[in-house]
Amino acid sequence: PKNLWVLGDGQLGAMLSHAGQPLGINVRPVDIMTPSDAQLPLEADDIITAEREQWPESQLSLQLSQHPHFINGPVFGRLADRFSQKSLLDELAVATSPWQLVDDNTSTEALHQAYGERVLLKRRTGGYDGKGQHWLKQAEATTIPADWRNEAIAEQAINFDEEVSLVGVRTQDGRCLFYPLTLNLHQDGILMASIAPLSRLAPLQAEAEDMLSKVMHGLEYVGVMAMECFRVGEHLMVNELAPRVHNSGHWTQAGCHINQFELHLRALCNLPLHQPQVNFQCVMVNLIGVDKDDRWLSLPNAELFWYNKDVRVGRKVGHLNLSVHNKAMLDDSISHLKVWMPQQYQAPLDWILAEFA
Ligand code: ATP
Ligand code: MG
Ligand code: MG
Repeated sequence: PKNLWVLGDGQLGAMLSHAGQPLGINVRPVDIMTPSDAQLPLEADDIITAEREQWPESQLSLQLSQHPHFINGPVFGRLADRFSQKSLLDELAVATSPWQLVDDNTSTEALHQAYGERVLLKRRTGGYDGKGQHWLKQAEATTIPADWRNEAIAEQAINFDEEVSLVGVRTQDGRCLFYPLTLNLHQDGILMASIAPLSRLAPLQAEAEDMLSKVMHGLEYVGVMAMECFRVGEHLMVNELAPRVHNSGHWTQAGCHINQFELHLRALCNLPLHQPQVNFQCVMVNLIGVDKDDRWLSLPNAELFWYNKDVRVGRKVGHLNLSVHNKAMLDDSISHLKVWMPQQYQAPLDWILAEFA
């Protein structure tokens, strides 16, 4: 294609452009939020993808989404709505937390009866970073917000051991390939840090690949997809799916010979594609609501991705990939970050140290 257009122009679009450069693929993220009368110069053999699951209808977004090469077009809406996403998982018999639609007749009593003392309501659409969630706690007699009826699902609270994710790709001829599982730490609903690969997660890899294969085949999906899971004992349950490159796959930029952004581009453009090789074990630290600090660049194993966004509390503004060449270097880098980073980073950084202890 002459151009590969991306619906959305956030950090994922920017990192897709970055990955396209050495391949000579002209990746063009499009700001679909600012109203515009402009016509994009789309050509017949151009390819269109999206860096987000949902977007407002506008002249620009329609022009992109109606192009015959808008890959995975119907998938976005289906996964953007938790009702249809969870329905799909049930249809494919892929394990996920028990759930139901919250409708006009749903009572908190019935939800607690079905799922226990704590029940998590999630808005069907638009939620991210834990926004759009509401806990029902039987002991506190919490109620269902009126405007959440028909707009939310209720999920059983899962008492998980930890959270992992799988990033995989499906090619146009239906082959599926995967990165090793990533271990993730969320704090207040936001991904704080990831580690991959970890040999102790290897026994879960086959189950995870089987689950994501079912989803990607079921949707006849092409490109990179991410599956967030809960590990409960020896098994996995899907928390949610993302039809795109994913924050928990950012470690592949430092760790793999084909990172998730390049993998997505290769699949979309039907270029040769094979199993990504892992060069280094990596730790990814998300930069949330913190100012840029050039001291990060003094860490010998760090790669900084700064998104050039306005810094706001709770907002993802960058990430650091730390390659794990040896434990001493990692420990040293994390110790420095503990001094430089604010209070909310102490627990995630200790979590990293503990994994390598
Ligand atoms: P993202 O930014 O990943 O898209 P999101 O806002 O879509 O996040 P979820 O991934 O559904 O939300 O949930 C965010 C976090 O909340 C999860 O990573 C997990 O830590 C916690 N969580 C979600 N569902 C459950 C559940 N059923 N039981 C316990 N904890 C949960
Ligand atoms: Mg989500
Ligand atoms: Mg999530």
